[in-house]
Amino acid sequence: MEGTAEKTGVGIVDDAGNILSSIGKQLIPESGGIHPREAAEHHAAVIVPLISEALEEAQLELKDIDLIAFARGPGLGPALRTVATAARSLSMRINKPILGVNHCVGHVEIGRLTTGCADPVTLYVSGGNSQVIAFDSGRYQVFGETLDIAAGNMLDQFARQTGLGHPGGPKVENLSKKSDNYIRLPYTVKGMDLAFSGLLTAALRKYEAGVPLEDVCFSLQETAFSMLVEITERAMAHAEKREVLLVGGVAANQRLREMLQIMSDEHYAEFFMPPLEYCGDNGAMIAWTGALAFTHGLRTPVDQSFVRLRWRVDKVDVPWVKQP
Ligand code: AMP
Ligand code: MG
Repeated sequence: MEGTAEKTGVGIVDDAGNILSSIGKQLIPESGGIHPREAAEHHAAVIVPLISEALEEAQLELKDIDLIAFARGPGLGPALRTVATAARSLSMRINKPILGVNHCVGHVEIGRLTTGCADPVTLYVSGGNSQVIAFDSGRYQVFGETLDIAAGNMLDQFARQTGLGHPGGPKVENLSKKSDNYIRLPYTVKGMDLAFSGLLTAALRKYEAGVPLEDVCFSLQETAFSMLVEITERAMAHAEKREVLLVGGVAANQRLREMLQIMSDEHYAEFFMPPLEYCGDNGAMIAWTGALAFTHGLRTPVDQSFVRLRWRVDKVDVPWVKQP
């Protein structure tokens, strides 16, 4: 069960890595951003029907379930607690164990499962996260990340404030296709890390100063994605990896994919991206990571199953990944 933000997801997998079902429902706010309490109310309202639907799709019954994995963090507190509560209740009802999964590890693992890549540098870009992750010394280490807001959040805020609506990523992408006129915007890479808030402010100023919106959208994408690709490229060279994996909702963007493909080609590396339904938040990624963790001896006793709002990916042991 996934519910770290506004999407409720339920997935069922077997321990061979077959995805038997994966369904989800997203809260779409009438205006403004995602309120943590509204996300929690959304999860509470839809999770039980989603569990039934997922079982139906997999042609299974509750008694066939052996393990209940849930996204333990990072994420919005009320949202996480609602899904954790659902997991605990279901566990008591069917007398099967629960296991808390790190959401970011889930993105990497469903990416490896669905694309067949083995040891990638992962660029994880979504509404709430922008990180470059790669395996080293027993863990998925963070090689670079945003120091302020996530790339998706930046696009969403830009779209909201220019009247393009929500979610912003696809709107900015569509408009950007009408322009190839690059307007200079601040490019902020600090070491291996990024910052997007200055870029957001500068782009909004350009728009307010009368620069055509399609030119601002184009320039915003070119700048933000170049920053992301630059740190991905350096992580790849430094960690000596030969595979690049793109995950997260922003992976839907064709221009970002194209830029990563070009960079990968230049390094004789292979570029991978899961099917879109497994790029964004989904239940299957939590189910599969839970299965991996459980078969490698990890456990989450119910009395220690509290959620972890800021649970960093590099704090999680992944004993199923072998040092290449
Ligand atoms: P997630 O947080 O993984 O659910 O992904 C949602 C984020 O992906 C939002 O910030 C969206 O604006 C962004 N997004 C979705 N489609 C696109 C796109 N085509 N280009 C850029 N960003 C996108
Ligand atoms: Mg996510």
